[in-house]
Amino acid sequence: MLLEKFISKHFLTLVFAGFWSLTSLAQNTLPDFQSAEIYIHPDPYTETITGEVRYRFKTTSGIDSVVLNAHNMKFEHVILNGQPVAYQIHNGLLSIQGPKKKGTHKLLISYKAFPKQTVYFVGWKDDIGGNEQIWTQGQGKNSSHWVPVVDDMQEKMVFDLSIRMDSTYEVISNGVLRRKAIEDRLRLWEFDMERPMSSYLLAFAIGEYRNLDRQAASGVPLKLYYPQGQEHRAHWTYLYTEEIFDFLESEIGIPYPWKDYKQVPVSDFLYAGMENTGATFFSDRYLVDSLGYNDENYVNINAHELAHQWFGNLVTEKDAAHHWLHEGFATFYAYRAEQALFGPEYVHWKLYETARVLEEMDQNGSGEALTDPGAGSLTFYEKGAWALFILREELGGEVFDRGVRLFLKNKAYSNAQIFDFLKAMETESGTSLSEYR
Ligand SMILES: [Zn+2]
Repeated sequence: MLLEKFISKHFLTLVFAGFWSLTSLAQNTLPDFQSAEIYIHPDPYTETITGEVRYRFKTTSGIDSVVLNAHNMKFEHVILNGQPVAYQIHNGLLSIQGPKKKGTHKLLISYKAFPKQTVYFVGWKDDIGGNEQIWTQGQGKNSSHWVPVVDDMQEKMVFDLSIRMDSTYEVISNGVLRRKAIEDRLRLWEFDMERPMSSYLLAFAIGEYRNLDRQAASGVPLKLYYPQGQEHRAHWTYLYTEEIFDFLESEIGIPYPWKDYKQVPVSDFLYAGMENTGATFFSDRYLVDSLGYNDENYVNINAHELAHQWFGNLVTEKDAAHHWLHEGFATFYAYRAEQALFGPEYVHWKLYETARVLEEMDQNGSGEALTDPGAGSLTFYEKGAWALFILREELGGEVFDRGVRLFLKNKAYSNAQIFDFLKAMETESGTSLSEYR
């Protein structure tokens, strides 16, 4: 895991350049991926994915190889610009002989995946009806367990997913549902994305779902899913969803970056929530009725995962050393939303609690830096949020908000470092923030 973090795409390409010609290790520019059209047919009974992906990429010269991450897959066809092409599989990497000329290229791969992780088939082997689900969890770099992709957060492209499934089930994925076509007893769901994103944010969920249809003040459609038969929990689970969405859009000051927003509860989820682009998945333990709502509810997670649609999905960290840009910001904006909903005291109390724990950590020598890629979640989330509250206090709300907007505009649909955020803050405030670096 740790090793994977430090293997860059550049390194991989250099390693694999030698596969085709050991004498020409010299120049091998990287393919610049533009788009991917993915078509999959998950089979829950064999726990396999039969799929096809069509890439379009550009090169500025001929290249030796195109390297994709692909785990536990068998390949039927690998076709570059209409011609079958040589490829090798090694250690979770699919290395394909590259095009000899510069230009825009088309790569088609048809495959069968046998995912050992990332895709979860839940409830298909028991006798209970209606609890069947399939869902994915692609973070950190794991979508390559069901589709050959570049597992690098810095390789952003436009992904369009099509999924073929038994028509009993609802299919949810990133992007706007363009079409539902009937194919015998199966149904093909075609989703469309217009903007690029990193591959770890690819996702799909399948199950007997129903949904509430809501709309944000800005017109963004909000689809709030719940398992069939859980109608009575939908209202309480999604309480304040529109308020949170409207608050964050106006507070962040940059329109929600995607066409629609879906939220889907899934069974046996190991996390609280995951901010897949335009399609947050969350643990179904947060499906609550009026009584359960008071014990534990989805409000904070609802706001946290939504904030990630800007901080993480629109602007993505360059690497783990910049994880503050994801978790610190999502935690901060979730607190801001709660302040707006429940009043400042509600949040002050929570902040006071985390400050006490963080102070203890600093005193007993276990304090961690925000820039430490191996820091724990308390540092990334709570200390990260604290840093933003302090910065906002210091610069004033108006300057702080302008700095955030400048940062998001500068780095929209690309990757950023902490330095980029501080630079935007310095530009808007006219003060040096060198002590934060
Ligand atoms: Zn988060």
